[in-house]
Amino acid sequence: MSILESEARPGGLATTTLDHWVGGASFTGESTRTGPVYNPARGEIAREVRLATSADVDAAVQNAKAASRGWADTSWAKRQQVMFAFRELLSTRREELAAILTAEHGKVTSDALGEVARGLEVVEFACGMAGHAKGEFSENVSTGIDVYSLRQPLGVVGIISPFNFPAMVPLWFFPIAIAAGNAVVLKPSEKDPSAANWLAALLKEAGLPDGVLNVVHGDKEAVDSLLEHPDVAAISFVGSTPIAKYIYETAAKHGKRVQALGGAKNHMLVLPDADLDLTADAAVNAGFGSAGERCMAISVVVAVEPVADDLIQKISERMSGLTVGDGTRGCDMGPLITREHRDKVAGYLDVATEDGATVVVDGRSIEADGAADGFWLGPTLIDKVSTESKVYQDEIFGPVLSVVRVESYDDGVDLINASRYGNGTAIFTNDGGAARRFQRDVQVGMIGINVPIPVPVGHFSFGGWKDSFFGSAKAYGPEAVNFFTREKAVTSRWLDPSHGGINLGFPQHT
Ligand code: NAD
Repeated sequence: MSILESEARPGGLATTTLDHWVGGASFTGESTRTGPVYNPARGEIAREVRLATSADVDAAVQNAKAASRGWADTSWAKRQQVMFAFRELLSTRREELAAILTAEHGKVTSDALGEVARGLEVVEFACGMAGHAKGEFSENVSTGIDVYSLRQPLGVVGIISPFNFPAMVPLWFFPIAIAAGNAVVLKPSEKDPSAANWLAALLKEAGLPDGVLNVVHGDKEAVDSLLEHPDVAAISFVGSTPIAKYIYETAAKHGKRVQALGGAKNHMLVLPDADLDLTADAAVNAGFGSAGERCMAISVVVAVEPVADDLIQKISERMSGLTVGDGTRGCDMGPLITREHRDKVAGYLDVATEDGATVVVDGRSIEADGAADGFWLGPTLIDKVSTESKVYQDEIFGPVLSVVRVESYDDGVDLINASRYGNGTAIFTNDGGAARRFQRDVQVGMIGINVPIPVPVGHFSFGGWKDSFFGSAKAYGPEAVNFFTREKAVTSRWLDPSHGGINLGFPQHT
């Protein structure tokens, strides 16, 4: 029975231990180590996941390497057909995947479906890879000589993904890598690993040859084995900043192409002329969606006075209507990923009080619609947060929205630019000139103008600046086409018998 039938249907997730997926089938490997996978809404261990050894990673890489040769030689048309079939299957069965996301991550069903939809955008982009990866041609650059460029796959690429988007982040990378003719070893987060096996099994069903997409589960040992493996040509990583920096440095040291997306602390600048109802809706949606466990979540509202008091009132009113609970019960917000993370996030409320901030809405007292042991923390609003406080400086990665009051647009922009992170930011205003100035002034990779979560659509590329991104090619879109292919330039002359002769000088154009 396939994983789709036995392990990954709603209510039918693996009850014991989740295997790796290598060579088109479940793979146990040699490791005796496993890690716990929780159902965060119940607060209990739902299953274990295998944690790969370097020999297990090597088995996956060898499968990928063997499969990559035939796959690279497969025509663009055939590779695209697999992507089209995958797109259809994923679109039809999105609810099955969403159920897995809710069970292991905790995000509510509507949010999980949104995650799948944004992943599907990249699959749709990958369906057109033959066009995206076209080379160029210049005729007669020198007498009788043509030059053209080709885009060819790299071979085996590694993808390492975080817990907060167990489907979407892998989908940012592997459809483009695979459509370009590469084979992939994916190492998803060990906290919510089942979605990756489900996606790999679905691609097999779509016609992908065995070995082109492999999934190894694990922790640092598995990651380091991928980073150091001589047969892995490139690494795509998404996760926290310290690990992103480590991945970038270590993979580059081993001669690999790397893109490493890191953490974030996203600010929303609210000018006094903004529509405060729209702004309050946006702050609540972007601050508390997915329990704030999004790299594009808004975590700081920068209120240009005199808007702060009115805005805080409107945000608080909206927060009082939010429901927190089991993601399958139609609530607005689910639990956090682990008890440890929940407690760490809750700890920032004590820090806020110690640092002189005002806790306006305290999420610790929430009554959740779910099991008593779930990892619950309700939406939290903190006013007058000092920029010296860890509440302001750290990426909290939970449902905690801070308000910092400033006196002017310039003070707000200076604050945003002083941040070590530069993933996303947004401005809320009715002044087109100020918005235009903002998009130019801020040192941030993705900007929203009256849009709180400016995740670019699939035919643009995604990535931040500063400590939110290490590398040169962003995720998905046109930059990913370049990342997952290597360009070759061909200079060709078909002999004309009237030309020729000996000339040892450096070739010059005639
Ligand atoms: P994380 O950095 O802890 O883990 C990410 C991946 O790295 C996982 O697969 C994990 O197994 C691996 N890993 C963890 N520690 C490691 C180590 N010491 N050595 C080698 N590998 C290691 O991140 P997370 O907690 O899973 O995810 C949340 C973080 O990801 C947040 O910081 C969030 O902002 C960030 N994120 C960024 C983006 C983006 O696009 N910039 C998108 C989503 C999430």
